[in-house]
Amino acid sequence: MINKDKNINQKIKDFNIELEQQLASVSSNEQLEKLRITFFGRSGKLTELMDAMKELSLEDKKIFGPALNQLKKESEQNYNNKKNNLEQELRKLEVLKKQQFDVTAYKPGQLEGSQHVLTKVIEQIQDIFISMGYKIADGPELETEFYNFEALNIPKDHPARDSQDTFWFDVPGLLLRTQTSTIQVHQMKTYGAPIAAISTGRVYRQEATDASHDFAFSQYEGFFVDKNISMGNLLATMKTFLQEFFEKKDIEIRVRPGFFPFVEPGIEIDASCPFCKNGCSVCKKTRWIELLGAGLVHPNVLKCCNIDPEKHNGFAFGGGIERLAMIKYGINDIRFLHGANIDFLKQF
Ligand SMILES: [Zn+2]
Repeated sequence: MINKDKNINQKIKDFNIELEQQLASVSSNEQLEKLRITFFGRSGKLTELMDAMKELSLEDKKIFGPALNQLKKESEQNYNNKKNNLEQELRKLEVLKKQQFDVTAYKPGQLEGSQHVLTKVIEQIQDIFISMGYKIADGPELETEFYNFEALNIPKDHPARDSQDTFWFDVPGLLLRTQTSTIQVHQMKTYGAPIAAISTGRVYRQEATDASHDFAFSQYEGFFVDKNISMGNLLATMKTFLQEFFEKKDIEIRVRPGFFPFVEPGIEIDASCPFCKNGCSVCKKTRWIELLGAGLVHPNVLKCCNIDPEKHNGFAFGGGIERLAMIKYGINDIRFLHGANIDFLKQF
């Protein structure tokens, strides 16, 4: 409240001097905002002066009213001028900062990137099959029930569906693919026979995670459909693949019966341990490592892809990419491969 004894003129003068001093020292938007609240805010100095005028006599109001209005007009103008100038200054500073930015500057000790071990293994697999005349094929991770199950000879209520706990979408019939075999169907439906293709990609299963399981992992899948294809062709191809992949010419393979609905007959292929002659920790002293599943493409799958099983036949094979990487590079936990541990990743 203004003391009646105090000359209101003096108050106006004080206001002006104080405002001028403070405006001069403002150099940032934050400071300017603080000043605005102090002088022009709802309970600021200007409001205080205006309120004081209400207490004056009618006569005094006539004298000081116009002076106060003038003060309001001028001080707000000064404030706005400062605001505009400050904006320009800050913009100039920003431009100057950008000009001083040196895009060629080198920060010593920077980490250099390297290829992820899974990418490395995927490229190795692709290179080997490209050298055997295969093409690279790709397919969607979001799939329909038809491509993931029915076309692969896994009808509804087939027990094989239970072993692949599926991530279903709210939209009926849509799921995250549980196997890369779906790509076979897309390829054969689109291009027919003969065809030879290798594909790699992520697959998803609702599984608890542990050292050798994760809910998302990568598979490779190859297939070759032509005329008069035999189990001999499949085994020769697998042996070549594993010898090239482990870079050991003396790798032998061994075959066990295996069940996969989309092949008939189905087999599981083991490779002789690339790391020992008499048993080691990798092969758990057995000298053999379980590596992949394979077989001759089931006639139902060919029919589903509009290929006549009387004229054409073929083989298919597939397995986990993480498993190949873990064996080749001696990694003992699959979760390392999907994590972001730099110390682990920079070893490769
Ligand atoms: Zn071994």
